[in-house]
Amino acid sequence: MKCQRLLLLNLGTTSFKFQLFDFSRGETPSASGMVERVGSDRGFYSLNLPSGKAEGACSCRTCTEAFALCVSRMGDDGVLPSLEDLDAVGFKAVHGGPLTGTRLVDEELLDVMEQFSPLAPAHNPVYLDLMRALRERYPGLLQAVRFETSFHGTIPDYRTAYGVPWEWREKWGIRRYGFHGSSHEYIAGRMRQLAPSARRVISIHLGGSSSLCAIRDGQSIASSMGATPQSGLFQNNRVGDFDVCCLPELARRCGGFNQAMEILCTRSGFLGLSGVSNDLREVLAAREAGDRRADLAVRAFADEIVGYTGMFAAYLGGLDAIAFTGGIGQNSGVLREMVCAELGLFSIRLLEDDGGAEGDRRISAADSGASVWVIKTDEEQVLARHTRALVESL
Ligand code: ADP
Repeated sequence: MKCQRLLLLNLGTTSFKFQLFDFSRGETPSASGMVERVGSDRGFYSLNLPSGKAEGACSCRTCTEAFALCVSRMGDDGVLPSLEDLDAVGFKAVHGGPLTGTRLVDEELLDVMEQFSPLAPAHNPVYLDLMRALRERYPGLLQAVRFETSFHGTIPDYRTAYGVPWEWREKWGIRRYGFHGSSHEYIAGRMRQLAPSARRVISIHLGGSSSLCAIRDGQSIASSMGATPQSGLFQNNRVGDFDVCCLPELARRCGGFNQAMEILCTRSGFLGLSGVSNDLREVLAAREAGDRRADLAVRAFADEIVGYTGMFAAYLGGLDAIAFTGGIGQNSGVLREMVCAELGLFSIRLLEDDGGAEGDRRISAADSGASVWVIKTDEEQVLARHTRALVESL
């Protein structure tokens, strides 16, 4: 069937983002927007509609309410008179365990996502709520998902294995999956345009959550994230990789296992290490002002990136290019320089600071061993392409 009108949704625990495509008019979204602070009385929405920008305060208790708000504003604007005008809704979903790729939402998929909710507690439940609400209220509406694990299906089996009983993997799906697939897939494609001879690329996505991906000939062969999106590099307020054997002692000292997990997942990362903020901009400012813990946090983060880069270059058998992306990767020249300064092994030489130039660009000197790039990721483009292909194949 033809797929002309597609609504793409990206849900977080406290945020809701959408893009509306009308492919009969081209590939750029005809409307987009977000609701921030979902779940609080102090919410805020910001929509780009054909008639102009619409912003205001709101209090959406759930992403389902945020969805209703955005759809109603698009209805008033005339850009989406009714949900019946849509060919499909597409979700950037996180964890489907063994289910990967782009799929239609059905009972089996919802069951599997439910089963894997404990491994993606900040993501799967919000998606399940909205998918179920839409199935109930609009049974004729086609819903599709693209899992964030999808791009990593090409990682070899031995690299997705943890050193745990094999039965855990077979019965419970305890293995490495890798996430941020849409972003890394976009970077892989963009690098093929920008530097076609670069066959061994490391994509470094640094943002609210961060991961690295080793890409050989356009395919993922390693991810720094494992069974859950909490793993790998430490994140803004989340722990990243950690020694699990500390857990019994932490549970005892923090007043229980759940309390210890809560701290590891919400008060760790940049926030826990620096004591300043979960926002790298504020941590960098404190570092500039001489704060030693902030300095340590930034150095530790850069050092983890350097470590993964070395490991992934070994997996790739060499390194042709690295690409920084995400809110931090695109905007923080300081962090990029700290990382690249430690990559002498690859004879990396950066150009003079480009003063925060915009746009996709090469930031390494002509004689640099591996080239270094800054690229603005576009996860929605990847999502739109795959969802459209699935709907058109029906
Ligand atoms: P998300 O992962 O939620 O989509 P982004 O990729 O937009 O988020 O990244 C958000 C992060 O980017 C924030 O934590 C913020 O600290 C960081 N960031 C944005 N601009 C800068 C900057 N100039 N310097 C350092 N960090 C930045």
